[in-house]
Amino acid sequence: MDFSTPRWPVPFRLLSGTAGKEVRKDDVILSSYCGKSVQFNHSGESMSQGCPVCAEMGSSKNQDRWIAGDSDCGLYQMGNIALPGYLVLAPRRHVVRWTDLERSEWESLERFRGVVEEVLLGTEMIRKVYFLSFGEVCPHLHIHCFPRTIWMADDHSEAGGVDGAAVFVHYRKALACSGTPEEVLAMVRRLRNAFSERRSSQK
Ligand SMILES: [Zn+2]
Repeated sequence: MDFSTPRWPVPFRLLSGTAGKEVRKDDVILSSYCGKSVQFNHSGESMSQGCPVCAEMGSSKNQDRWIAGDSDCGLYQMGNIALPGYLVLAPRRHVVRWTDLERSEWESLERFRGVVEEVLLGTEMIRKVYFLSFGEVCPHLHIHCFPRTIWMADDHSEAGGVDGAAVFVHYRKALACSGTPEEVLAMVRRLRNAFSERRSSQK
């Protein structure tokens, strides 16, 4: 499959009434992580200073993209990519290896992951949620919660189904942008309310 150009022409319409965003094949990711250029050593340890995930967890500048969190982990909208519902889930502590997670952190991540899946799949146009973790550019453990929408791929177009990895790579590049578009912020507010309502209903 050729992913150099999008096969489906509606790349950005999760919310009714929002304008479509043209995807150009020469769009590129602005920088290595969330629009920031970051440098890490190979192990990623003792690199919490300058860590973009730590910055997201502790910065008031992130407030407009913040969705939910508890004492162990946080959830926020990925910056600089015009894809509503593309979230990042991470422990608040600068943890590099899964085996270094405290039990409470592990349980919190899993609990949030389940809620992310449920809430995103309850949103129109989202067909699947990809959970990916690499730790290559930014070693602070974090999970990309990537909403695969119905306009990104035709589930029935090919035998063998959708190439999820190719979809992820293509749309991260194609939807790269500067800042956070209003359509994305609108989804942030909507997800924030959904998480808040879910939490209060669990009390
Ligand atoms: Zn960190």
